[in-house]
Formats: sequence, C-alpha cells, structure tokens
Amino acid sequence: MARLLSLVSLPLLLAYLVSAGGCSEPSSSGEAVHFDACEPVTVVPAAALTTGQEAGVRAAIGLWNTTAGTQLLFDADPSAVVAGARLPIRFQAAAAAFHGFYDEQTGSVFINLDLVDRAQTIAIAHELGHGFALVHTTAHPSVMRPGNLDTEPSAADADALVALWGACPTSEDAATE
Ligand SMILES: [Zn+2]
Repeated sequence: MARLLSLVSLPLLLAYLVSAGGCSEPSSSGEAVHFDACEPVTVVPAAALTTGQEAGVRAAIGLWNTTAGTQLLFDADPSAVVAGARLPIRFQAAAAAFHGFYDEQTGSVFINLDLVDRAQTIAIAHELGHGFALVHTTAHPSVMRPGNLDTEPSAADADALVALWGACPTSEDAATE
C-alpha cells in the first residue's frame, strides 16, 4: 500500500520540488508522521542498497546520534521486522535540483540516487531532521538549511530537537539512579 502510494505520488512531488529547489518545506494535510528524537528509530531501505548508499545512511545516522544523542539504528534488510519505530528510506532517480524529500504522510525519506559521498550523507541527515519534525532554518549553522549539501547536524540542531521532544534521558542518568 505504501509502495503503491509513493509510486503514484512521487512524480507530482518531484515536479513541485524541482520548482521549489532542493527540498521543500512539507505542506501536509491530515495527520503528519514524525519520530520522537528520544526513542529508537530504525532506518530500513525500501530496496537493497548499494555499498555507497548504505555508507551514506550509516554516516548520516552517526552524525545525528553523535551530535544530538538520537537513537537512530540501521537495518539493511528491506523486509526487516523492527521492535520500535521504522523509518523507510528510498533512493530514487530525480532531477538534479531535487536532493531529497521527507514524506510526512507515510513517515519515509526519499533521496536522489545521483547524490554521492558527503552531499548524499548530508541530504540524508537533512531529511532525517524533517523526520524528527525539524523545519528549515537559516538562523544558525544547521543541517536544516534549505538546499543544504554540506552542513552537518549542529549543536543548534540538537537544541532544536530538545525544544521539540524534551531532553532525552542519558545512560549517565540511568547509571546514577
Ligand atoms: Zn528540507
């Protein structure tokens, strides 16, 4: 069902996004799907990934977990059954101006398969940020800058997650209790 939906809606989405440039602010109708930044979230590919794609996903996850203490996980098996929240990611051919998109109707990420290396990693990190309900900003260095392909998740981005989801309990907290 989700697969059919994405195939039908993506061309329309892409036409809109290319006109907007980079990645647009999601404009949702109905219930939006977002992920709690303090809860385990497993990123699962919609189809088998190339080595480069898997490296990009793992790197983007690492940037968030290191900077903001998120609990993003990765499972390379498209049919993986995960214990907690599941965030599908799909690599898709698209025009160069389209970097990626977070579909908040289905809670899934789309990435332009022409992106490679650091640009790919940053684009994935940006869309995962939308998954955490972050919006675009130019107020400070941020992975959420519109069209961003080079700025990693920052301390300000970590603060933005705390503002949205609250401060996550840390393993140090658990150890002292
Ligand atoms: Zn965006």
